[in-house]
Amino acid sequence: MPSPSTPATAKPLSAPQKALIKLGLKRDIDLALHLPLRYEDETRIVKLRDVREGDTAQIEATVTACEVTLRPRRQLLVTVDDGSDTCVMRFFSFYPSHQKALAVGNRIRARGEVRGGFMGLTMMHPSFKPAGGHLAEALTPVYSTVAGLAQAYLRRAVVNGLNHADLSETLPPGIAWPDPRGAWSLRDALQFLHHPTPDVSLAALEDRSHPAWVRLKCEELLAQQLSQLTAKRERDLLRAPALKPRTQGLHGQLLAALPFALTQAQQRVGREIAQDLARQVPMHRLLQGDVGAGKTVVAALAAMVAIDAGWQCALMAPTEILATQHFAKLVGWLQPLGVKVAWLIGSQKKKERAAMLALVESGEAALVVGTHAVIQEHVKFKNLGLAVIDEQHRFGVAQRLALRGKMQAPGMEPHMLMMTATPIPRTLAMSYYADLDVSVIDELPPGRTPIVTRVVSDHRRAEVVSRIGAQLQEGRQVYWVCPLIEESEALDLTNATQTHAELSQALSGVLVGLLHSRMPVAEKKAVMDLFTSGQMGVLVSTTVIEVGVDVPNASLMVIEHAERFGLSQLHQLRGRVGRGAAASACVLLYGTPEGGRLSETARERLRAMVETNDGFEIARRDLEIRGPGEFLGARQSGAPLLRFADLETDAQLLDWARALAPLMLDRHPQLAERHIGRWLGGKSEYLKA
Ligand code: ADP
Ligand code: MG
Repeated sequence: MPSPSTPATAKPLSAPQKALIKLGLKRDIDLALHLPLRYEDETRIVKLRDVREGDTAQIEATVTACEVTLRPRRQLLVTVDDGSDTCVMRFFSFYPSHQKALAVGNRIRARGEVRGGFMGLTMMHPSFKPAGGHLAEALTPVYSTVAGLAQAYLRRAVVNGLNHADLSETLPPGIAWPDPRGAWSLRDALQFLHHPTPDVSLAALEDRSHPAWVRLKCEELLAQQLSQLTAKRERDLLRAPALKPRTQGLHGQLLAALPFALTQAQQRVGREIAQDLARQVPMHRLLQGDVGAGKTVVAALAAMVAIDAGWQCALMAPTEILATQHFAKLVGWLQPLGVKVAWLIGSQKKKERAAMLALVESGEAALVVGTHAVIQEHVKFKNLGLAVIDEQHRFGVAQRLALRGKMQAPGMEPHMLMMTATPIPRTLAMSYYADLDVSVIDELPPGRTPIVTRVVSDHRRAEVVSRIGAQLQEGRQVYWVCPLIEESEALDLTNATQTHAELSQALSGVLVGLLHSRMPVAEKKAVMDLFTSGQMGVLVSTTVIEVGVDVPNASLMVIEHAERFGLSQLHQLRGRVGRGAAASACVLLYGTPEGGRLSETARERLRAMVETNDGFEIARRDLEIRGPGEFLGARQSGAPLLRFADLETDAQLLDWARALAPLMLDRHPQLAERHIGRWLGGKSEYLKA
């Protein structure tokens, strides 16, 4: 079989070859490491009597009936008898050749999932061939695949990869092993997992507790730890400007001017950041803090240190609203101190944009706030020393790299501070952000009362509206969030527009605003201004307000069709209220699909929201419900997702890999390099983000 990475001059790639590349299976070793999702047992013939419902079984039996029926729809019904029981096989698509092969009296071998039911055992579309013939000697692997790539082709490709790949050991000899059953060699483990002998326990294979699986999971985790540690060490060789706070500098001035005192937690993370900034090594720190914990001011104080030292600072946020709000807040804090702040957003007028770009390039603007517009190619900084990314999980790896690249000096990088309100559970942090330093604000500013959350059926909407009236009476403000309808932005909008009309009518005499992502920026800004200044009582919006918006007087949030939102998203939204001293509430309105019931996961999410306000707990449950792949998204973490290891069940293996990685890099650097190359191949540049 030709290698899929044939040079361009050779024959064009066949469809399955292209599919292999799409799956990332380019090298022999990639194929060898493409392990089965599950197995099928074609090593034996079972008796129908012994089959349990749901089993995939291989049987040999004699056809006793074969007929085409037209009800409830056209299908071929074949009854077979193996002497122990009978089974009905159904085929909805079939050819005359099927009928011939399945003629009464023929003996066949069939494989398929067996279901029980009214008519006894049935198989839908089993595969079949004449009875007899040899039985497989090993379990048959089933691989994850894509359209256009048949299992049979993939199996051959894997065998080929397995035969040609270099499977020599990369783990140093004599290391302690986390599995008391001892270590399998890589070669044996791979051979076994691709073609397990039939005597093995299918359970141990399926739950991946078999020693061969353990060996592979250890390898995978080690590769991940090694690559992250390598990235960290490479970064440690780079230089960044050492930024030290000046006495009587801007840092102290801002601190003195703030209308509040920092919490203990803010002070602590402030010190952690200051220590990093003072070093000549680029900071790479993740600042975690629940919504409303006060991350912005921590970032602003860090910016003051950079500016004091004569460097520029950039703050990048994922949405225009958020960038605008940061800009307003920072100007409010910094203008009195004589610090010039520029802002850059996509929808800016040309003239304003040009003026801003000039301020940034000349260095006159010490602080630059903006959206992705900040990392556009034509944006030139005079001397970027500190880059802050707010809601970092909303940005991709390439964007983070681009911002870092705005430092002009060769061999140097700016300090990076990444902020997130989506806390990353410990095992995930250790695994995916192993190369990041983490600071946590684990304390909310004083005087906040916890948000009370209620789950309410949409049938009781009228009650909710009257509750809004009561809040407004007390001089409070209200958010009403309409869901994002994935398939259609237009529908999305209709929904929000209708709700806006409905509320405007129900709450006469109150200014009800509407905010959605398609509005021109100036209009969005006008609406936000009215809401921020308190003139607008109710703000109906689509999820554009999701991140970071800060209006302390808002004390009630209604989320419509809350069942359509993810858990972390609900928590972020809810964090928009409870920012002031007033008792705040969040109402999760849910709709049920035409008399149906909410799905179990939707109910689980809503329950979690009622039960806890703690962002870490929410994140833990979210992870439980969604699994790490979805929770992080490869795009967001930059680190390759684990394919085999499971952080919950394999925490012990992760500890082992974490301990081994530095030793291996120090004592066996060549083995480490081979190990990373083998497992991560061409993906390693991503790890530097
Ligand atoms: P987040 O961490 O979600 O980004 P913000 O930085 O937007 O939170 O802060 C939420 C609100 O709390 C803001 O109005 C901010 O000015 C205020 N705040 C921040 N720190 C404190 C503090 N130590 N005491 C009182 N209010 C604070
Ligand atoms: Mg924020």
